[in-house]
Amino acid sequence: MPRILLTTRGRDSGLYDYFRENAPRNFRWRFGMPRTISFGLRFLRQNLPDVSILEYPSHAEFSAHLKRGWDAVGFSFYLEETNDILEMAAEARRAGVRELWAGNYGALTPSIHSHFDHVFNGYSESSLADKLGVSLDEIQHPPLITRFRLPGGWSFPLGILFSSRGCSFRCTFCQTTTFAPKPKEISLASLDRALRFYVEHGVRFVLLLDENFGNLPSHADAVIELLAHHGIRWLVQSRVDLLLRNFDEWKRCGMEGALFGIESFHQDILKQMHKNERAHAAFELVDRLHGAGLYAHGYYIIGLPPETPASISEDLRTLASLKLDVTQITIVTPHPQTEMWRELDTGYGIFEKDWSKFDTKHLVWNHPHCAPGVLESLLEQGFRACYSGDWVARTSKKFLSMRRAQKDLSSVLLGPVRSRWASAARLPYLPARLPVEDQRVRSVA
Ligand code: SF4
Repeated sequence: MPRILLTTRGRDSGLYDYFRENAPRNFRWRFGMPRTISFGLRFLRQNLPDVSILEYPSHAEFSAHLKRGWDAVGFSFYLEETNDILEMAAEARRAGVRELWAGNYGALTPSIHSHFDHVFNGYSESSLADKLGVSLDEIQHPPLITRFRLPGGWSFPLGILFSSRGCSFRCTFCQTTTFAPKPKEISLASLDRALRFYVEHGVRFVLLLDENFGNLPSHADAVIELLAHHGIRWLVQSRVDLLLRNFDEWKRCGMEGALFGIESFHQDILKQMHKNERAHAAFELVDRLHGAGLYAHGYYIIGLPPETPASISEDLRTLASLKLDVTQITIVTPHPQTEMWRELDTGYGIFEKDWSKFDTKHLVWNHPHCAPGVLESLLEQGFRACYSGDWVARTSKKFLSMRRAQKDLSSVLLGPVRSRWASAARLPYLPARLPVEDQRVRSVA
């Protein structure tokens, strides 16, 4: 078996924290979830136990690992991490590694392919197994636990679950349309194993991070029954229309909150993005989530070609009026191999050459109405409006009221102790193959 090392960008410039990136600059009273494990690499390692992984290494750790001698080193990365990865790849070449591989969404950029000997497109357990000449049965879900910090620093463990991967919709800005255009389910037996691990290790909350939960309706129905069976409270990322359609049933089965793309308040812009949602549906969903005391987390995009600084300012005031628990605001950013890349490049020109600026917080193309710097200021203004005033009190009250209603303060009180599993060094893998008694789909209805 060849010696394979799979790794990510380094940690020396700090770990990525989604909640830091989606809050006003230097905002202390926010949620936190530093990215210490790589979900993609953990999937690969769970399913192909002979590969080694190295998550978010320091530069010294990466250099030391290179000296151990590898037949191939693979890099899993996102677009805005490309500069760092190209430097790491050059160092690996100098260290004499024979083959360099690229994978994850960052590998979709055609202009960097020449730096690598092999590029994996999409979720790659099967193609990596083929390359290694090993057979792979059903994809197994690894335990994925992260430390979720409440404003002020109190933490608890959050289990991550991908019940399916991929999405069949065709939003023009989204790289999933190329990366994984056909949703594929992870088997119930495998999900059941991961959930049992969570329950046994005191994890009471799960974040379902499917690109679009509910895209495979009958599988989604079975998954929520499974979650209810384990008594787990869950948050889910899905489309507004799917959340509205399934709201009551999902709530009955333990939905604790939802993460959803609003994207725009304007029907013509939603249409342009092929989002196929009603502009007003997001307002209805937010009302229902607030009414039920559930966590509401919306994604919004500013800077589409027809928008002006004045129209964006007004939209950001509307966004703040929704009083979401978390608001993600991004500047419209073309990503390679999307329809939006082609539209913006042809229509206006993409001027930015520095990949680190393609982080959705910078303008990288020639906007017809917004001068450089304007969208970045509006972004900050939007975050300040969304997280101002009573945000901490309001969001904390919602979370604690739900715990009281469920007579579940222990999951909060014991959270810091149970969070110890959210450590890259401690979090284990499950046995490589399912025990015989688990190789059937469990009926939990
Ligand atoms: S529904 Fe979500 S995951 Fe699917 S293409 Fe649109 S933005 Fe991407």
